[in-house]
Amino acid sequence: MGPPGAGKGTQAERLAAIYHTPKISTGDLLRAEVKAQTPLGCQAKVYMDAGELVPDEVLIGMVKGQLQHSPAQGWILDGFPRTLAQAEALEELLRELGQDYDHVLNLEVPDEVVVARLLARGKEQGRSDDADEAVILKRLQVYREQTAPLIDFYEARGRLRRIDGNQPMESVQEHLQALLEGSRRTA
Ligand code: AMP
Repeated sequence: MGPPGAGKGTQAERLAAIYHTPKISTGDLLRAEVKAQTPLGCQAKVYMDAGELVPDEVLIGMVKGQLQHSPAQGWILDGFPRTLAQAEALEELLRELGQDYDHVLNLEVPDEVVVARLLARGKEQGRSDDADEAVILKRLQVYREQTAPLIDFYEARGRLRRIDGNQPMESVQEHLQALLEGSRRTA
């Protein structure tokens, strides 16, 4: 978890490679649908370009399909859940599948850093939702209103781990690994 531009995708990619664990990134899955111009992609694009969240039922269905085909021994979710309804659906889905999660990793990055990073990424990668400052600010507002409440949700369940995401990528990765490997040793 973390605001847009916190480094979720980058770190999820790295951890997935290190631990040979599948990464389920809802943003990537949606962008693939948009690129392939599927009906779901065409519907999702309108929300994504406006900096809004794609409706919960679309995301929950998508993640359900992915988790059903993922090995029970591990996965990394990137960019999901983003609303309380998604978090509750995930709890239920994992119960149904007889699976669980160990950590919710929250990358903390100040707003001004996030805006600068996203504008730079918009130029480098041509992501349309990163190119426009108004859309970036909308995504931050949506994050604050709809996603940030999940911090309390996972804190209450004792699964939240806070990481300073305002550091070089390598340091963030080292902190994440230390956290995961430390907990593994004491588990
Ligand atoms: P991301 O690459 O994770 O920043 O996602 C890009 C965009 O995809 C977001 O701004 C949303 O429009 C949409 N999206 C990705 N994941 C979700 C989610 N869990 N719930 C709703 N919309 C999502």
